[in-house]
Amino acid sequence: MTRSRSTNTIGLYDRYVMPTYTKTPLVIERARGSTVWDAEGVRYLDMFPGWGVSGVGHCPPRVAQAVARQVKRLMHVSNNYFHAAQALLAQRLSERAFDGKVFFSNSGAEANEAAIKLTRKFGGPDRYEILTTENSFHGRTLATVTATGQPKYQAGFDPLVPGFRSVPFNDLEAMRRAVTHQTGAILVEPVQGEGGIQIAAVEYLRGLRQLCDARDLLLIVDEVQTGLGRTGRWFAYQHAGIVPDVMTLAKTLGGGIPIGATVVARPNADLMGPGTHASTFGGSPVACAAALAVIETIERGRLVERAARLGRYAVDRLQALQRRHRIIRAVRGLGLMLAVELSVDGRPIVEACRKEGLLINCTQERVLRLLPALTVTQAELARALKMLDEVLASRAGRSGLRRRAERAVR
Ligand SMILES: *Cc1c(COP(=O)(O)O)cnc(C)c1O
Repeated sequence: MTRSRSTNTIGLYDRYVMPTYTKTPLVIERARGSTVWDAEGVRYLDMFPGWGVSGVGHCPPRVAQAVARQVKRLMHVSNNYFHAAQALLAQRLSERAFDGKVFFSNSGAEANEAAIKLTRKFGGPDRYEILTTENSFHGRTLATVTATGQPKYQAGFDPLVPGFRSVPFNDLEAMRRAVTHQTGAILVEPVQGEGGIQIAAVEYLRGLRQLCDARDLLLIVDEVQTGLGRTGRWFAYQHAGIVPDVMTLAKTLGGGIPIGATVVARPNADLMGPGTHASTFGGSPVACAAALAVIETIERGRLVERAARLGRYAVDRLQALQRRHRIIRAVRGLGLMLAVELSVDGRPIVEACRKEGLLINCTQERVLRLLPALTVTQAELARALKMLDEVLASRAGRSGLRRRAERAVR
């Protein structure tokens, strides 16, 4: 009966939507918290909600309510005028991060793009270069994909934007050696998300701060994935007790409504004067109302502390899995940013999990990534890890068989 609903939708995509994404044949119709339902009414436990966008869960009630209220009063104002929500949101972000000013946009890439242009203003024509790290991820616009230290994302898009170089992550000496008289900034994720949940050492971040101070460079932290409580702090750089010059945010910030933010510390907060940068939709009343409600949701639910606590629980349980499954090579986590590194391709495991009703992600081919909503319950986490356990158990048997078969062929 309803089987055709998914098939129809997928058929329309095939014909009319550009095929830029690797897709999973799952048409999602409805979601709440950490649960989603497909077009046939089948239920899934979502441990990777919206690639981190639905950080306070799908359709968070306070956010849904704030958006509903806002769309009836005022949906859009050009940035040549003022509106209260943008002012309040800038204040709330600055109070929770560091004293500074905010530029609002619509996505992570756009937030980083503003940081890149700010660096050009900061360094002038001679100090335009931005040092980034290998395996980083900063977005898919031409400049941010150049900043992204992964050739696979850059292939086919030459000529790239000049002025970026990437060096090994968590290697302070490599960064120090890379700085030249042309360097204007260092751009780094406190935890590389797409790179496989690689966690920056506290000493690394402190060292970068010192290096930037010594060489008069901007320290830009990309917190698009790590920001807003995800790692058990409001912002992941806070684990290191440092203050960056620039921080970029998106994903969780809007609770599902597109918004990006570039937070710039004084004294550089006024480097971009009137006319130097813009984004027509940036910081719209609806997006800002949503983000204010996200912040309220995080605070009322004490979700930052909760992410830290549930993250410790999850890592414990994942380490127990590691003792049972030889294909798990490592377990990493900071708050609710979790990774299970395998010795085999993780994509068939993600697919097997989906068939069992569990949504997770695989990055860097062998790293299973979980970014559960900060509102996830311990029972949901336990259920998800049990499903993963079962899938790994059945896959281990199967891949063992396949290996034996391959050997027999050779
Ligand atoms: C997702 C992500 C981006 C890009 O965000 P978009 O909203 O897709 O442009 C940039 N940096 C990091 C660390 C991300 O995880």
